[in-house]
Formats: sequence, structure tokens, C-alpha cells
Amino acid sequence: MRHIAIIGSGPAGYYTAEAAQKRWGEAVRVDIFDRLPVPFGLIRTGVAPDHQSIKGVARRYEKTALTDHVRFVGNVTIGDQVGVGELQALYDAVILATGAPEDRTLGLEGQDLRNVFGSAGFVGWYNGHPQFAALDPDLSGKHAVVIGMGNVALDVARILAKTEREFSASDIVAHALDRLKTSGIETITILGRRGPHNILMTPKELGELAQLESASPRVDPADLPPIDEDAILEPGLRKSVTHLRSFAAIPQSEHAGKPVGIHFDFYASPQALLGDDGRVQAVRVERTAVMGGRPIGTGETYELPADLVVSCIGYRTTPIPDVPFDERGGHFANEHGRISPGLYCVGWAKRGPSGTIGTNRPDGYAVIDLVAEDIADGADKRGREGFDELAQARGLKVVTFSDWQKIEQAEIAAAREGAPREKFVDIASMIAARD
Ligand code: NAP
Repeated sequence: MRHIAIIGSGPAGYYTAEAAQKRWGEAVRVDIFDRLPVPFGLIRTGVAPDHQSIKGVARRYEKTALTDHVRFVGNVTIGDQVGVGELQALYDAVILATGAPEDRTLGLEGQDLRNVFGSAGFVGWYNGHPQFAALDPDLSGKHAVVIGMGNVALDVARILAKTEREFSASDIVAHALDRLKTSGIETITILGRRGPHNILMTPKELGELAQLESASPRVDPADLPPIDEDAILEPGLRKSVTHLRSFAAIPQSEHAGKPVGIHFDFYASPQALLGDDGRVQAVRVERTAVMGGRPIGTGETYELPADLVVSCIGYRTTPIPDVPFDERGGHFANEHGRISPGLYCVGWAKRGPSGTIGTNRPDGYAVIDLVAEDIADGADKRGREGFDELAQARGLKVVTFSDWQKIEQAEIAAAREGAPREKFVDIASMIAARD
């Protein structure tokens, strides 16, 4: 018998469990740990609430979760309540699938001013992550600045721009919907330190900006490179740039009917966040020129008014005591997923925050190939039986998958009309719903 512990119940965790199940069937026991009492990680608290079709992949993870020998062990923080070394003594392989839940920081003067947020916090707030439910962003000002030109920046800009009606079929949490309903935001500026050919926004998601009820995307035609230069781009990026070109061609008369402007500000590198009374009021920006793919400051600066700033510049994995960490990469130090004998990592915890949800599938299968090479038939470890004793001795309040199903039923029952669920946003309410 092989005993495998997976830490983290997001896409990387569940694809890894699926791979272990497919490979060994009856001859493996998999425990998937999560610090939250609810599973699915980024699917629940990262994917935008108005992207329900993407969230549908959770049904596939549910299939894995409901197979006989895969368990969800929620509400347990590994590295705090239970050490990684303790798990290694019980399981043949411990696989860290903890994602990258922390923001990369801007490192700029003024980054700690009020109403400046990183995307982990801001996205967590509108998605009901218990850690960020109390974030309390002030959306009463007119000007929002979103830093970065990746898909997270796009999510944040779109959520800020949508009307109440556009959220009707989403699972945005009530505290965020209430705040967004009364938002005073009129301009959302997306700052990119490089040009249109360097965006990391994917075409489907970028195209959504042209479909919004009361907001429209605005691109200065002068920022676009000559059209024949698009030919060298890879097809996905070329499609995204084609969207930018169509945004630049929207006539003024069409913008007039849309009170909220989503402005793309290219060649614009943030230099400092400025404020009075401890609260952000503006972003000082330096114009750049792109040389050899890198943004080079031109010395020309300007100030953009900003009542709210959300920095969407990427994420880092949270280090775990005694696990080697690659500071530059912001993930666990590893060789193709191996950290040390018996300890592995997968997904964003292995390679950093890139790719789509589906990228985690081959990652999960690849790490199970490594585990199979290393552990053969297993070393007669105690696995879940040993963990259950430890959990009892420590008084841990473990949440199981069937507990989660009760929590989910309560969330579905509490949904606004037309919405799939109303999430619990604090751990105590989640636990109360299963009791
Ligand atoms: P990302 O794709 O890496 O984009 C980060 C952006 O921040 C880039 O435009 C980058 O510009 C910019 N940036 C980095 N450091 C900066 C700095 N110091 N100052 C100014 N700008 C800076 O990261 P992400 O948007 O967080 O997305 C993470 C992953 O999740 C990606 O793989 C993304 O596709 C995925 N995701 C997918 C979806 C979806 O498919 N619907 C939704 C959300 C996220 P440079 O390029 O110049 O470095």
C-alpha cells in the first residue's frame, strides 16, 4: 500500500490525486489537506465569480474526491498545526500543492497607503476568502488604477466595471456586491509597463471588455504598433492584440453611452503611490520605451489620480518551515518537482504562477510519475490511520468531504435568486453549517 499526502486542494492538488488514483487504484490511499474547511482552492477563491463555466471544473475534482480511497482533510494547516516532517513520517510521499497565495510586492514608496491592495487580497475579498473578507475597500472615489496587464488585472478591472445586473448569475459574495452596487468609479486605468505586444491577457477574457453594460475599453490608437508587426506574434497574443485594435476603433459616440471608461495606459511604469492623510490619491508614473523586450524609463513622468489602487503583478508561494525555498522564483526549491526524498511540489508551488488551470493536469501526472519511481510499493507507513491518531491527540477539528457537501448545500440554499450559491466568508460559519 502506498500512502500519499497532498497539501492543498486546488487544481494542482486534485489533478495529482486523480493521477495517483488512475495509476494505483485500490493500492493507494490519498489524503488531501487544506487549511480551509472548503475544497478547490483557486477555483473557489481565485477564479472570478462571473466566470462560472471555468469554476465548473470543480465537478471533475469532485469525482476524484468521491472515489473510495481519496479523502479531503479540511481545516488543518500543515506547517503550523502539523509539521511537514510529521507527515513525512506517516506517508510515503508528501506533495505540496499549496499554490501561490501571496502577492509579489511593488516595492514602491506609498505602497502601504490606505486603499492600495494587492490582487490576492482584492480578489479574495470579492470571492469571499475568509482571510480577506474584512478587507473593506473604499469604492466611493472616481478613479481606480489597476497595475499589471495579465489576466488578473483584467478580472479586477471587469469586476470593478460591472453593474449589479451583470453579476446576477455569479457567485460574487454579498459584501462585495453591496459595495460594487454603490461604487463611484468612473475611470479604471490599467497600467502596463510595456506595450500592446507584451500584454499577458488572453483573447477570450480581453474580448469580454467590449460586452459590458455600462463600461467600454479605451485604447489610444497611437500606442498600437504598425499592424504588419502583429504577424510575428504567436496566435493567442495576436488575437488579443486584434481586440486592442478593435477597442482603439470604437467611435466616441459609443463611449458616450458608457459612463465607465477602462483605459489602457501602455508604456507606463508606476514609480510611487502618493497620498495625503495616509490614503492614496495618485500614482506617479514614468513613461517607458521598450527595448529588447524590456521597459526602459524615459525620464518623463506624470501623475494619475487614484482613489483605489489594485496591484496585479503576480504571486508567490507561502514558505513552509523547514522546506527549501527559491526566493527569486517565489516557489519551493525543487528539481522538476522533487524537493527532497519523500517531499515533492506541484503546480504553482513548483513553477510559479503561470499558465491556465489545465496546465496543472500534466503537472499532477508528472509528479505522480516521480513518486512512482521513488516509492515503489510503499514502505509500510501508517498513513491516514497514523494521521487520525495525531489529529485526535491535537484536538484538530477536521472537516471531511461529506462535511463540505453539507456546507455546499447550505450555500446553495442561501443563494440570491439566479445565483449558484452565497458563500460563507468565515471559518466559524462554515464549520457551523456542517454541524
Ligand atoms: P501575469 O500574467 O504574470 O501578469 C502580471 C503582469 O504584471 C504583467 O503585465 C507584468 O508586466 C506586470 N508586472 C509585474 N511586475 C510589475 C511591476 N513591478 N510593475 C508593473 N507591472 C508589473 O500574472 P497574473 O495576472 O497574476 O496571472 C497569473 C496567472 O493566472 C497567469 O498565468 C494568468 O493567465 C492566470 N489567470 C488566468 C485567468 C483566466 O484564464 N481567466 C484569470 C486569472 C489569472 P511584464 O510583462 O512587463 O512583467
